[in-house]
Amino acid sequence: MVSPLDDLPIREDLRGQQPYGAPQLSVPVSLNVNENTHGIPETVALAIVEKLAQATIGLNRYPDREFLDLRQQLATFLGHNLLAENIWAANGSNEILQQLFSAFGGPGRKALSFSPTYSMYPNIARTTLTEYVEKPRNMDFTLSPDLVVSAIDEEKPALVILCSPNNPTGTALSLDCVIAAYEATDGIVVVDEAYAEFSSGDSALTLLADRPRLVVSRTMSKAFAFAGARLGYLAADPGVVDALRIVRLPYHLSALTQAAASAALEHSQLLLQNVQKIKQQRDRIIEATKQWGLNPYPSDANFVLIGGFKDPKKTFEQLLAAGVLVRNVGIPNTLRITAGTEAETTKLLAELALVLD
Ligand code: PMP
Repeated sequence: MVSPLDDLPIREDLRGQQPYGAPQLSVPVSLNVNENTHGIPETVALAIVEKLAQATIGLNRYPDREFLDLRQQLATFLGHNLLAENIWAANGSNEILQQLFSAFGGPGRKALSFSPTYSMYPNIARTTLTEYVEKPRNMDFTLSPDLVVSAIDEEKPALVILCSPNNPTGTALSLDCVIAAYEATDGIVVVDEAYAEFSSGDSALTLLADRPRLVVSRTMSKAFAFAGARLGYLAADPGVVDALRIVRLPYHLSALTQAAASAALEHSQLLLQNVQKIKQQRDRIIEATKQWGLNPYPSDANFVLIGGFKDPKKTFEQLLAAGVLVRNVGIPNTLRITAGTEAETTKLLAELALVLD
């Protein structure tokens, strides 16, 4: 017997809400959730399995709660003189964000971001009972220091979330905006750099020194081709890490996750080798769609938001019928398309050309 959700004593603010998630369909070309569509090279897969085997023998024990080895590896990978104590990790950067909202948001506090942006921010705000406000970006989806500062002055948020490059628009953010945001607030400024490895712009990691309220969030889900393993992380002042320790569940990062991520980081160069190729495919999508009279927005990420579709819902369905899954994020006249392998991009562009004909 299944009770309708509304018959259960669920929290009032969750009544009628839908779970978040893009469709997970089995199609030949899946370009809808900004994954790295290249598989893990076999040498890396074997190295991961070996580490997993070692970790498996010790699974009778709880994992290392502080995962200092992994944090050291992440610090070394990031550079910028970061130490293990500057790093924290969780099951995807979604969990990192949730821990940040839990520690620095909460009842009576507000989080601010700039629309359109990553659609999980309002969901995480809701779950953590944080008020959430989005101010609109400029027409071309850029931000300026003035725009950011006036929104902060107006809203007085405890948390400011700046997504760079921004999902779903691909827009890079100038560091001027981050500095201006930091100076305008006493709260926490989070720069969500989930797609940083695809960007030619500077990372906010360069701003961390002497800014104890600045947090840079990263993930292994995109450039590292490691979405299935669930490993997100952040770099910040050790005080931020101390705050997150208070809200994290004990042993949140399993020994298997730690082992897999650690083995992957030992082969980071190999895992990141497709970043350049993905950027080429992204630029190919931009060029082709521009020539066809569509309006692709500049992208520093591994996806492109394309405007100019008369009926995006119909185009989405036509592409899906041809075996190509893209994303309709609900911005009028647009579709968002992840840059895949060369073969996937060839298929996408061929099918899109047919649809547009
Ligand atoms: N931030 C942004 C901007 C994203 O687009 C995503 C994934 N789509 C995430 C965070 C979360 O990714 P993950 O939990 O896999 O690290």
